[in-house]
Amino acid sequence: MNKAELQKSTENYSIATVGNLATFEGKAFVKDLLKTTSVEVSLGTLQPGCSVPFFHHHKQNEEVYVVLSGEGVFILDGKEEPVSSGSIVRVAPAVSRNTKCTGKEPLAYICIQGKEGSLEQYTMTDGVVEQ
Ligand code: ZN
Repeated sequence: MNKAELQKSTENYSIATVGNLATFEGKAFVKDLLKTTSVEVSLGTLQPGCSVPFFHHHKQNEEVYVVLSGEGVFILDGKEEPVSSGSIVRVAPAVSRNTKCTGKEPLAYICIQGKEGSLEQYTMTDGVVEQ
């Protein structure tokens, strides 16, 4: 499977899967499947030596990349920044970006994008612990 697939959708939650993360290849976006309203989330993998086929930037969304496995570089406004499993990278909307897998194993990552400056409450200011 190289696309996300909806498993369950109710009025209040939805569940999708890309199958086994170890064998996932390519890129899968889940906003439409999960009907998210504040973030887009995608899962991506790049094979050794491969880059995203284009540079891009955003109009209003910042992105946070969480590297799940592998090694690579983020090219941010022309500057190469090495990343590896466990790296978490925030990129402002206007920054030109690309990602390349430089290791011997695929580079797997999650990308979360949301409108820059829109987060008003989070963790303990938004979360309500229930008894
Ligand atoms: Zn992007």
